[in-house]
Amino acid sequence: MATINENFLKLQAGYLFPEISRRIRAFKEKNPDADIISMGIGDVTQPLAPAVIEAMHKAVDQMGHKKTFRGYDDDGLGYEFLRKAINENDFKPRGVELELDEIFVSDGAKSDTANIQEIFGQDNVVAIPDPVYPVYVDSNVMAGRTGRANQNGQYGRIVYMPCDERNNFVPELPNEKVDLIYLCFPNNPTGAVATAGQLKKWVDYARRNRAVILFDAAYERFITDPDIPHSIYEIDGAEEVAIEFRSFSKTAGFTGVRCAFTIVPKRLKAYKKDGAAVEVHPIWTRRHRTKFNGVSYITQAGAAAVYSPEGKKQVRRIIDIYMDNAKFIREALGEIGYTVYGGVNAPYIWLKTPDGISSWEFFDILLSKANVVGTPGAGFGSAGEGYFRLTAFAQPESVKKAMERIKVIS
Ligand SMILES: *Cc1c(COP(=O)(O)O)cnc(C)c1O
Repeated sequence: MATINENFLKLQAGYLFPEISRRIRAFKEKNPDADIISMGIGDVTQPLAPAVIEAMHKAVDQMGHKKTFRGYDDDGLGYEFLRKAINENDFKPRGVELELDEIFVSDGAKSDTANIQEIFGQDNVVAIPDPVYPVYVDSNVMAGRTGRANQNGQYGRIVYMPCDERNNFVPELPNEKVDLIYLCFPNNPTGAVATAGQLKKWVDYARRNRAVILFDAAYERFITDPDIPHSIYEIDGAEEVAIEFRSFSKTAGFTGVRCAFTIVPKRLKAYKKDGAAVEVHPIWTRRHRTKFNGVSYITQAGAAAVYSPEGKKQVRRIIDIYMDNAKFIREALGEIGYTVYGGVNAPYIWLKTPDGISSWEFFDILLSKANVVGTPGAGFGSAGEGYFRLTAFAQPESVKKAMERIKVIS
C-alpha cells in the first residue's frame, strides 16, 4: 500500500486566486461588456528588455554550432559569467563581498524559498510574517513542520508575526525563541521596507539565538530610498546568519523566462542536536547539485544581459514605468481619502479598506462598481484583513482609468 504524505492533507485549499477568478467570471457572465482592469495578480506586464532579447537570440545561435554549443554548466551552480555579473553589480557596489560559489543560480525564488527548509531540521520553530507570500508557510506545512490549520487558516507550531500599521508592517522580535525566520523586503503584499536599524535587530536576534534568517529580496530593484539596504548582507554579521533570495522575475520581467539566484554564505552555520556547528554552504551545494541541474544557457545569457550597460538602462526604464504607476496610484487614492501604504520602494500599494469593511467586501465593491480587480488582504493571512493590495504592474493608461473610476464611486 502506497501511503501518502499526510502533511499535504493539512494544506488549506489554494483559495485566493481561484476565488478571485470565480468572482470575476460570475461578474462577467452578468456583465459581458464590462471593461475590467486587472491590478490584482503580481505578474509583470512590460516585455523583456531589447538587450535581453538580443543576448538570448545570440545564445540560441551559439547552441546551433559545434564550437559554441554549451551543455551542463561545469559546477552546477550557474555559468560563471552570470555569477560574476551578479557579484560585480548587485553586491560589490554595496560593500558586500561574496565568493562566486556562494551564488547559486536557479529557476526561481519561489522554488528556492520553498526548497530551502528541507536542509533544516524537522523540529525548528518557524517564524513567518502575516500577511505573507504563501510559499513560506505552505512549504513548511508540506514538510511536516506544522500542526493543523485552525479556523483562521493559521497552522499550529508556526509563530505568526503580525505586520500592520502599528509596526509599520515590519515584524517585531518574537517573545518565544524561534529558529528559522522568513523576512521579505521590499514586501509582497504590503510594499513595506525595513531600515538598516530594523534589519540589524533581526540579525542580532539570529546571532543571539543561533537562528537563521531566510531573506527574500525579490523586489530589491524597486527600492528608491537611498538609505534602505538592498541586501541583508549590508548588515554586519548577517553573513553568519542569513540566506538571501533574489530573482530576475520582477527585476527584469523574467516571470515567464525563469531565472533567480540564492546566496548561501560560507560563514553561515546551523547546528546539530548536540549543539555542534555545521556549515550550511556545503549542504546546500550538495542539495542543489543533486536535485537541480541548472538553468538553460539561453536564459542565463539573457539574465547576464540585464547587467550590460544597455540592459541596465532598459531595465531601469521598465521599473520606472511601474514605479510611476505606483506613485500615481498612491497619490490618486490619497487624494480620494484612502489610507495607503507601500508603493514607494515596491510595486505594491496596500490600502486600508474604508469604513472598516472586510477586504472581500471591498473586492466586490471595486469589481462591481469600478470594474477594477485587486487582491483582498485577507488572502495573504489573517492580519491582512481590512487591507487591499493593488499592483503597479499594469499599463499606465489602465492605471489612470482605474483611479478615475475609483474616484467616481468613492
Ligand atoms: C514574485 C515573487 C518571487 C519570485 O519568484 P520567482 O519564482 O523567481 O518568479 C519571490 N518572492 C516573492 C515574495 C515574490 O512576490
